[in-house]
Amino acid sequence: MNALQTFEHYIDGVFSYPTERFESVDPSTEAAWALMPQADAADVDRAVTAAHRAMHEGPWARMTATERGRLLYKLGDLVAENAAEIAKLETRDTGKIIRETKAQIGYVAAYYRYFAGLADKHQGAVVPIDKPDLDVTLRPEPIGVVAAIVPWNSQLFLSAVKLAPALAAGCAVVLKASEDGPAPLLAFAKLVHQAGFPPGVVNILTGFGPECGKALTTHPLVSRIAFTGGPATARHIVRNSAENLAFTTLELGGKSPVVVFNDADLESAANAVVAGIFAASGQSCTAGSRLLVERKVAQPFLKLLADKARAIRIGNPQRMETEMGPLATARQVAHMERTVAASIVQGAECITGGSRPRGLSQGYYVSPTILFSHDTDLPCFREEFFGPVLSATVFDTEEEAVAKANDTVFGLASGVFTTNLARAHRMTAKIHAGIVWVNTYRAVSPMVPFGGYGMSGLGREAGMDSIRDYTRTKSVWINTSDAPIPDPFVMR
Ligand code: NAD
Repeated sequence: MNALQTFEHYIDGVFSYPTERFESVDPSTEAAWALMPQADAADVDRAVTAAHRAMHEGPWARMTATERGRLLYKLGDLVAENAAEIAKLETRDTGKIIRETKAQIGYVAAYYRYFAGLADKHQGAVVPIDKPDLDVTLRPEPIGVVAAIVPWNSQLFLSAVKLAPALAAGCAVVLKASEDGPAPLLAFAKLVHQAGFPPGVVNILTGFGPECGKALTTHPLVSRIAFTGGPATARHIVRNSAENLAFTTLELGGKSPVVVFNDADLESAANAVVAGIFAASGQSCTAGSRLLVERKVAQPFLKLLADKARAIRIGNPQRMETEMGPLATARQVAHMERTVAASIVQGAECITGGSRPRGLSQGYYVSPTILFSHDTDLPCFREEFFGPVLSATVFDTEEEAVAKANDTVFGLASGVFTTNLARAHRMTAKIHAGIVWVNTYRAVSPMVPFGGYGMSGLGREAGMDSIRDYTRTKSVWINTSDAPIPDPFVMR
């Protein structure tokens, strides 16, 4: 127990241990390595109360937008300087490979800098009102205390798209890290402190969903919920928000299609499919988990893919040469194994993978897996694995490709591979998804909105407009006439 590293909460500008703590497991060894603070409803209440106070009293409430931007720039610089250190913690706590955590956290700095720049550029308006003797202005004001909830994959990134626009807008935030792999966010709290945000503006804690998450999303002082996670939890969040009527955005899962036409550059398309489903061991909301390949090229393309999948270097996620680490939890492995087995029983062919890799007896490792079936009603085409499992099928016409791509309750991302420009335009118009990548996959930027259709969520994160979701508009009407108010019984 003594050998375990310990992490603290960050509430009202103070780091502390709560009475309850829980062990965090290193997914590459299955051994506990750290003790995490377990927030209960009282901790959540302290954090929300501190955030509410910070928003309405003290330096944050009086700061100009330019000053808020300066603090965000500083935070961006600190994230860039400390990316390597935090990446090591994220890799330790979630099993995500160090190559990716280093690069991703380095890029997270760009999100803070982007919203730092936007802080004093988000303006109100003067309305060209259709009535005489009235001046009407619209003032954007911070919406209130934000409850930000993230899952365990890419926590620095998923919190930046909430925290950065919220702080730019002048809100205060209580950020709940996932109970799985919270170390990188709890370490990030030190950078928030170092950047100099006044106490209570940013509070970072972790705990379990039904206790800590529920207390946060039902809290009466919370005005805005920004949630990323699974659709089942999202239903709880929406029900919870009935308590405080907080404006809620939801970033959920996906079952994203990648459509490969026979005129595509097959080598490049195969690399993009690998990036889409095997990078981050498939634990990505935008994972390109359904492959639709034109029948004429299906055989050579699937062979190319299977060869690439078998060549992936699986192992210790802290090594730079590793390409696939373990999954984050035993629960993820069990879900993946169950769904693969059910799909095979119902007729799917396993082209490669489907089992644990040889020589890795400890750790939540699974092999990159490719399943094939003509029947797309199988569980592997319907359920999100959140793991390295690609479900492939064929199509003959463009219409069939569109129908199969859209045959899902989700609609987060999609990929189209073709050298036919006209077809690329037709496909981007017809695919029901928040993101369409053409001849590329898995690209993101602070400048580009991110979010899904259908069961993939509500609202968009990143991009210029996302700051609007952290403000509310006050309409100010000023009478410029000295004349008495006319007929009080008629609406003006
Ligand atoms: P999850 O829904 O189980 O948990 C997400 C967060 O919600 C955690 O912090 C958890 O503690 C909290 N939570 C759980 N129950 C709660 C409750 N009753 N009230 C309030 N909070 C509660 O998700 P997960 O398994 O950790 O993550 C995987 C899911 O996240 C996948 O579906 C994945 O696609 C999705 N995801 C989506 C995006 C996106 O941007 N669209 C990005 C990453 C992951």
